[in-house]
Amino acid sequence: MRRMFLPLTAVFLSLLAVSRPAFAQVRQDAFHISPVYVVAGAPELVRVYAPGATSVDGEWLGRKVEFFRGARGEWIALAGVDVEAPVGPSMLHIVVNDAAGTRDLSPSIEIHPAHYRTGALSVAPKFVEPGAEAMQEITAEVKLKQEVFARSASKPLWHGDFHAPVQALPTDSFGTRRMFNGKLASIHKGADFHASMGTPVRASNSGIVVLARPLYYEGNCVVIDHGLGLYTLSMHFSRIDVHEGQRVNAGQVLGLSGATGRVTGPHLHWAVRWQGAYLDPVKLLRLNLADLR
Ligand SMILES: [Zn+2]
Repeated sequence: MRRMFLPLTAVFLSLLAVSRPAFAQVRQDAFHISPVYVVAGAPELVRVYAPGATSVDGEWLGRKVEFFRGARGEWIALAGVDVEAPVGPSMLHIVVNDAAGTRDLSPSIEIHPAHYRTGALSVAPKFVEPGAEAMQEITAEVKLKQEVFARSASKPLWHGDFHAPVQALPTDSFGTRRMFNGKLASIHKGADFHASMGTPVRASNSGIVVLARPLYYEGNCVVIDHGLGLYTLSMHFSRIDVHEGQRVNAGQVLGLSGATGRVTGPHLHWAVRWQGAYLDPVKLLRLNLADLR
């Protein structure tokens, strides 16, 4: 923990007492990350107070951290650590640019292990050993998703906190190492919500629908771009009620939950993707993002 405070010393330590530090009292560059205890798979709110800065550049574990100017003058980025990121120290590169030049604020951030479970489940054989025709479909869909994820909006589209997509409790299924039919191992990169067939699924925040169609594994799938590399993905719908290119607001119905694609039964699979990293959706719901912009 000590390492991350080195460039900021007393100023930063004094800010730790409250979850939302009052940067207005600070006279020099300062940095804050929340949650402070960083685990693999966690979304993180990064805030930089840099009076006079014209821009702030960021990079963390090979992913671009894009800052925007917040309502109170500080620079803000929603970032995170991929569920498969190695534990140990990492450098969060932050460079402040202003008329006088550039200043390096980069702190070292310790990534702690998260304790994810292991599990086994049974699905239809075609999802474990897809045939040649299915493989063609899957390959085309991989390309389509790459294109979709390569062009996020250049400004944040979300406003305030993220809200649960259904009125049901999520399971703690994010990060679970799973065996399908005793064969294929994969990591579960979303949170499953108990949702009986036909439950309305809502947008967790505002954004643009960039994908709304049936896919092989995902079933009927809706992807929302929230800007600056942040997306939410909802899968296995029985019916989709939005179209690609449509702007949506938090709470707007995207469709009805179902059991399409690779499932064992009706539920909602909800995932959060940031710059290619998969983050724990339940942790995103806990972040306090009110009044930031
Ligand atoms: Zn799932």
